[in-house]
Amino acid sequence: ESNERLQKVMANAGVASRRASEKMILDGKVSVNGKVIKELGTKVSSNDIVVVAGKTLDTEKKVYFLFYKPRGVITAVSDDKGRKVVTDYFKNIEQRIYPVGRLDYDTSGLLLMTNDGDLANKLMHPKNKVDKTYVAKVSGIPENEDFKKLRLGVMIEGKKTAPAKARLLSADQKKKKALVSLVIHEGRYHQVKKMFDAIGHPVEKLKRETYGFLTLDGLTSGDYRELTHDEVLRLK
Ligand code: URA
Repeated sequence: ESNERLQKVMANAGVASRRASEKMILDGKVSVNGKVIKELGTKVSSNDIVVVAGKTLDTEKKVYFLFYKPRGVITAVSDDKGRKVVTDYFKNIEQRIYPVGRLDYDTSGLLLMTNDGDLANKLMHPKNKVDKTYVAKVSGIPENEDFKKLRLGVMIEGKKTAPAKARLLSADQKKKKALVSLVIHEGRYHQVKKMFDAIGHPVEKLKRETYGFLTLDGLTSGDYRELTHDEVLRLK
């Protein structure tokens, strides 16, 4: 728990500039743990409850993780049936983090985890077009026509998917399976599986390899790393 000066904590939480925050303190508009504070030197930690003009500040330090979700894990912070959830992999994190969007139980790959609600909302908003690359093992070997359909858009629940990038990575003629790379920016429910269903090549295995400029490089399944300051700025 690091202690920081009250006016800095207020400025970091977006209340006002540091100078304007100092004035609010002097004016008696700020309380810490229920007591009005008028001294500028007061230090607070994220355990303290800071209220400014009637509003409680979110003083928790924002943290950002890139997680390599294994298959067989639920994208949730708890499960009433006791199944494994993504937060089980984060043991010594004091912040309450949650996933940005979701990957299916049987899908592996890149998942962002954070306690920054503003960024999470922004990234999940449909107008925010973050490219996501998926690699799918599909049944049968899609033909050029199928790829064209994926690229132009297929109908899912009466609505056409946005233009996507799709290409064949490899094909196993004997087993009649293929590996396909698909890049989409929408995030509709079971979107990738439904897109492949729409061309008659159901997904047997699915992995998300990239999220925007972020990749799984250097991570193995179940691992995570913190995003760098620079990566967080690029996402914002
Ligand atoms: N599309 C899917 O169908 N499943 C996922 O987990 C992610 C995208």
